[in-house]
Amino acid sequence: LSPSRPAPRAACRPVAPLLPVVGADTVVPLATGGTATYANLDNAASAPALSAVAARVAQVLPHYASVHRGAGYLSRVSTALFEQAREQVGRFLGARADDVVVFTRSTTDALDLLSRAVPAGARVLVADVEHHANLLPWQRSAATTVVRGGADAEETAALLEAELATGQYALLAVAGASNVTGEVLPLRRLARAAHAAGARIAVDGAQLLPHRRVDVGRDEIDWIALSGHKLYAPFGAGALVGRRDWLDAAEPYLAGGGATLDVSHDAVRWASGPDRHEAGSPNVIGAVALAQACATLAALPDGALERHEGALRAQLVDGLSALPGVEVVRAHPADAVGVVTFTVAGRSVSEVAAYLSAEHGIGVRDGRFCAHRFANSLGLVAGGLRASTGVGTGSADVERLVAAVERFVTTGP
Ligand code: PLP
Repeated sequence: LSPSRPAPRAACRPVAPLLPVVGADTVVPLATGGTATYANLDNAASAPALSAVAARVAQVLPHYASVHRGAGYLSRVSTALFEQAREQVGRFLGARADDVVVFTRSTTDALDLLSRAVPAGARVLVADVEHHANLLPWQRSAATTVVRGGADAEETAALLEAELATGQYALLAVAGASNVTGEVLPLRRLARAAHAAGARIAVDGAQLLPHRRVDVGRDEIDWIALSGHKLYAPFGAGALVGRRDWLDAAEPYLAGGGATLDVSHDAVRWASGPDRHEAGSPNVIGAVALAQACATLAALPDGALERHEGALRAQLVDGLSALPGVEVVRAHPADAVGVVTFTVAGRSVSEVAAYLSAEHGIGVRDGRFCAHRFANSLGLVAGGLRASTGVGTGSADVERLVAAVERFVTTGP
């Protein structure tokens, strides 16, 4: 060890995956001609489906039909499943009695929907640390202010609070957890600051919800957006959950069947509630899968998610930081989920990511993570490498990553 390297920690107890996920035994080909079990450390991009979700999908797949449209048995079953899924997602998030749960395709879709429902002239506040999904829908409007983020989540929160205090905003849009650093924002504090200043708060829950329980009522959040594929359900279903008034007053997000009460030559009477923004045949299976993921996560004992990923995050940060030339970005935030970004001095991130995949069967993400402004301000203009854990990750996966990066930096590819 070089003198500057921190002493390695005493060996920790191995951490087993918290829940079974599909594909955990996927075997991938290696450049050496051999094979390896895939180590998925890219959960922040898309997490593998829970086995419970896969079982539920297999159970309902033979029985679906178009919802809200038919009198036939399967149509009625599908309608009931879809509405039950809506109820379960709302319950998972602590939705208030008059909140709506609008099914969308994803977080991006949900935030775009909300951005179109902001009343005319209302000012929106965001920070430049956001994923593009929670930046670009707002940034395209002249009524948006984008403040620079701070040196950590605490400072960013303080900057947002100071800006809110000017009293000119109708909405603060903020990510619950960063997809670059894993940092968790103090949501209840920001919600209170927003409300005290006459604003509302919308939370991008894409990275927070796979790791932490959120209750919009208790946490005083007006809207939260989420994606099924980050929450251990398949692609194609997400949701926007929260206050009804702006959504009911807005133009329907999509114009089409299911969003209307009556259509004549001269006029359309649009529905209110979730129907207004869910035109077209809905993704019943996606909604059911998302609801199952919510129910399975909700059944975990209190604190289990935090303990699991806290141990894995510490193992990742300690292991990577001890390697020569490896730098972990904002390694020790006050509060963070299992998302760790690092760089390897003098090496391109795509080269390292390709090596980890080809030689070791390890999946990580490289690049600027759809958060270019934040990545640039962190000095990651050429990108970073991101390792992210999920409920299907165990300490053996992290050990493999750390050992592979060590091999790369000591002996080269
Ligand atoms: N917000 C954050 C913080 C994310 O990490 C992502 C995806 O990486 C999104 C939003 C967008 O999610 P989706 O692609 O499912 O719309």
